[in-house]
Amino acid sequence: MRRVENKVCIVTGGAVGIGTACAQRLVDEGARVAVFDLAITPPAAMRGLADRARYWSVDVATEIAVHRAIAEVVEHFGSLDVLVNNAGIAGTNKPTHEVTEDEWDRVQAVNVKGVFFCTKHAVPHMWDRGGSIVNLSSIYGLVGAPDVPPYHASKGAVALMSRTDALLYASRGIRVNSIHPGYIWTPMVEGHMRDTGATDMDAARRDLAQLHPIGRVGEPDDIAWGVVYLASDESAFMTGAQLVIDGGYTAR
Ligand code: NAD
Repeated sequence: MRRVENKVCIVTGGAVGIGTACAQRLVDEGARVAVFDLAITPPAAMRGLADRARYWSVDVATEIAVHRAIAEVVEHFGSLDVLVNNAGIAGTNKPTHEVTEDEWDRVQAVNVKGVFFCTKHAVPHMWDRGGSIVNLSSIYGLVGAPDVPPYHASKGAVALMSRTDALLYASRGIRVNSIHPGYIWTPMVEGHMRDTGATDMDAARRDLAQLHPIGRVGEPDDIAWGVVYLASDESAFMTGAQLVIDGGYTAR
């Protein structure tokens, strides 16, 4: 199927994990995709994307770099239809009273300001033609858990930024929705498990699976299919929505 035929999409944080799966599925469904990530040279994931994708080395927390890269994407592909704000970091995993200001600020800089900068500089390119912005929040942007406080704050912010921007831009045909994944097995989650003292990754994965009524941890494609839906015209009447893809984690 060609669910996003010829749409031009930006996927931030596309070098690994959920972002790579999003870029791959969007390309498979007919899109042309710009991948933003930190590495200077194109990451290995780009090799799977054929000639319908191109890589930009961009730190989403740096406004000038975001501004420049989005302008280059539009120059290269001719337009911009979809922005997937996926880049994010877990940040420090300490109780609130031990978190330093720098640790707090770094998480907000990537997870919140990064979404702000990319949205800010994508919207003008969508102004006259509409578009779809998909923001990766989290189950941690909906419910609490006793860990990663700066991350929780950042994902809660992304959830509300999405709804506000949905209302601001609905009349221009620019839709803004958030996705709220449960635990998805990616380098971020493996790192998080190591930080919490796990040494046996298979056991850690089994433990995580038990948090999800559906009985397993998510795969990047579980989220990528949600992104394809929100990027496509199949979701044309959907804005300001929170798409929860969490194996039932928040259903209890
Ligand atoms: P990941 O750490 O596996 O991959 C994130 C990617 O973002 C990496 O390639 C990294 O280099 C890139 N990145 C980080 N900082 C960046 C910056 N400043 N500029 C550009 N790129 C940057 O993460 P993931 O698990 O694939 O998560 C993707 C998104 O989904 C994140 O926003 C995350 O918070 C969210 N999420 C993940 C899970 C999960 O369980 N994996 C659950 C809920 C939400």
